[in-house]
Amino acid sequence: MCSWVCPACNTANDADDSYCIECGCHKPAPSNNHCSNPNCKAYNVILSNPEQKHCGKCGAATTYGKEIESFS
Ligand SMILES: [Zn+2]
Ligand SMILES: [Zn+2]
Repeated sequence: MCSWVCPACNTANDADDSYCIECGCHKPAPSNNHCSNPNCKAYNVILSNPEQKHCGKCGAATTYGKEIESFS
């Protein structure tokens, strides 16, 4: 059974818990945020942080980051 780790306090929670058992923050929504650079090894890896703006592997904007850019 896969669990999820709270982004705020790093506590491991059960997969069917909707809130962190330690700090009560909401489970992060599943996202499709990933690196937008097709040549990056992380291109097909869904990021655990749906609001991450840049790829930590190659520095390119993530799909979420591109979305933000298109608004400004
Ligand atoms: Zn927490
Ligand atoms: Zn990348």
